[in-house]
Amino acid sequence: MRCVRCGKREAKIKGLCEECFREIYLKLDYPSKFEIKRCPHCSAVKIHGEWIYDERKLIESLSRKIKISYPVDKLDVNGSIVLDSDHIFFVADVEYSLEGIVYRETVRIPIKVEGEACTICSRYYGNYFEAIVQIRGARNREEEERIRERFYEIASEIKDPALFVNREEDVRGGIDIYVSSKHHAKQIVNKLAEEFGAAVKESPQIAGRRDGQDLYRVTYSLRLPPYRKGDVVKISGRYYVVRDITSKGFSAMDIDNGKVTIFKHRIYEEKNGKVICLSKEIRKIQVVYDDGNTLQILEPSTYEVVEISKPVWYPEYDIGAFVEGSDLVVVPILK
Ligand SMILES: [Zn+2]
Ligand SMILES: [Zn+2]
Repeated sequence: MRCVRCGKREAKIKGLCEECFREIYLKLDYPSKFEIKRCPHCSAVKIHGEWIYDERKLIESLSRKIKISYPVDKLDVNGSIVLDSDHIFFVADVEYSLEGIVYRETVRIPIKVEGEACTICSRYYGNYFEAIVQIRGARNREEEERIRERFYEIASEIKDPALFVNREEDVRGGIDIYVSSKHHAKQIVNKLAEEFGAAVKESPQIAGRRDGQDLYRVTYSLRLPPYRKGDVVKISGRYYVVRDITSKGFSAMDIDNGKVTIFKHRIYEEKNGKVICLSKEIRKIQVVYDDGNTLQILEPSTYEVVEISKPVWYPEYDIGAFVEGSDLVVVPILK
């Protein structure tokens, strides 16, 4: 049967040949131009009121604007952004199929670009911040610097353009870091707390109102305890060597009976705990004789042989000692 329209070619669909059918029914439908807003700082574009930071998403969004007038079996749009002298175009290879016949067409849609600072950049350049991260209780500048470096490492692993540090201030007792996102600030602080065995205190403040809602800022205070692993602390008259420290508390071994107790950071404070000796000040002691109940050791400052009763944790742990007043205090050296 011949095509009812042209009478030349063979009829295939609805009494029409492929070409006549295509001319009558298959019309691509797309805007004559796109108007988009583009951020001059970071090249993000705004589509339907939303800023997009990824060119693939822009292409996906523009591709969805290309439609066809007839329910075809398949419609593929393969688009790209093309810069042609001073003009930008969205160029797309469109492929669609109907009843086994594949049609191809290329469309070229001009894009009109207007500059507008995106949400993130206007925040960035407008000193925006949602959270302050306070780092407190570092023993020295090196430790503070290690925590600070980890802060930035964790932040860069998050890979969110909405996360940035607005500014950093050296303050008495530590550093304050002003962060654009409270959600991410919390995430980073919790990770730091785990890694450094520090407690976190969270305090929200109302920072004003916008669109009828209270705006909150949050201060996350990361507080390192006064003790570190291997230090000797005194709690309620007993001496302990600190083992593992977490954000909640720490485990410590009683130097007399070898028992391990878990303390909360708060308990240490309530019981007026004290750091008696730093781990680096504990000297390793040589045992010269072990008769089963007593040990003969070399006194570290005079090198005289002295006798001590054998600690319950020896020989599992090496023997260390420090001098307190006129006493030699013997402690386990934790591995
Ligand atoms: Zn025809
Ligand atoms: Zn931007």
